[in-house]
Amino acid sequence: MIVAMQELATEEQIDAVIDAMVEAGVNVHRTTGATQTILAGVGPTANVDLREFELLSGVLYVHRISSPYKLAGRAFRPEGTVVEFPNGVTVGGQQVAVMAGPCAIENREQIFATAARVKAAGAQFLRGGAFKPRSSPYAFQGLGIPGLQLMHEAAQAHGLLTLSEVMEISQIEPMLPYVDCFQVGARNMQNFNLLRELGQARKPVLLKRGIAATIEELLLSSEYIMSGGNYDVILCERGIRTYETATRNTMDISAIPVIHKLSHLPIAGDPSHGTGRRDLVASMARAAVAAGADAILVEIHPHADKAASDAAQTLYFEQFDELMGQLRAIATAVGRTL
Ligand code: PEP
Ligand code: MN
Repeated sequence: MIVAMQELATEEQIDAVIDAMVEAGVNVHRTTGATQTILAGVGPTANVDLREFELLSGVLYVHRISSPYKLAGRAFRPEGTVVEFPNGVTVGGQQVAVMAGPCAIENREQIFATAARVKAAGAQFLRGGAFKPRSSPYAFQGLGIPGLQLMHEAAQAHGLLTLSEVMEISQIEPMLPYVDCFQVGARNMQNFNLLRELGQARKPVLLKRGIAATIEELLLSSEYIMSGGNYDVILCERGIRTYETATRNTMDISAIPVIHKLSHLPIAGDPSHGTGRRDLVASMARAAVAAGADAILVEIHPHADKAASDAAQTLYFEQFDELMGQLRAIATAVGRTL
């Protein structure tokens, strides 16, 4: 159930409503927006008489949440979620954030050269995998924590934020000092134990859509993180598997406006995994910004064709520079900044 408080509701009134909701047997999640407080009650509400709540003082309206996702739905935060990072960087607001870097952190020279270029191009996040979910157990698996330390050092040197994939619960704690945002990869979108644990973490999470996941399943997965109290979730469209073979995945651009309609969570577009081909990345990145993406995730590398993983979809630095200029023009055209 959703209880929306009046604009001028007092803390006492809000507390009284929370008490009544707890009494009715639901878990209460509170969000305070620019103008009003919204209380979401999660739990069995079939036998709760909503009129009782409408009569409590300070209440504006009450309704049952009909969608299966309770906290990720738009109704919980009608004005949208803005995820705040250090250095004043936001995802979900006016600014379109850019997260760029290699698929995998490989060595010091690679990650420092990339950081310099990411910064010079005006992007905010340095991305790089230290724990890589590879289809083959014989492929490069990533450098682990020493790799993350290198990326963190490079990011610090250039005033960038860091984003890296977490594959299992035991990696959360050791990764914490080095990442500003955890990435949950497509293969782990339904690793529910990992998602629950990230709900306890006090760092934002970028949650990628599974290879064969519906939008509803993606939103339900975000619910696992949010129900633990971590509302700083950024969703990510990275392409889904279809019968089409011309691209590695089919990038579902329409997921971006659909998610904005259904949910208050920001959504990023990842045209690198979305296409799997360097010659198609720019087109899909432009399309994603035009469709309203709140962030763009793109793979770049100083020697793109020699990257240890995902080389075919990795951009050369010059291509990235050119793309940034194009994205800036598109962002302006749709009323955003980049
Ligand atoms: C990645 O970002 O390098 C990655 C492994 O992405 P995905 O989980 O979308 O395949
Ligand atoms: Mn990759």
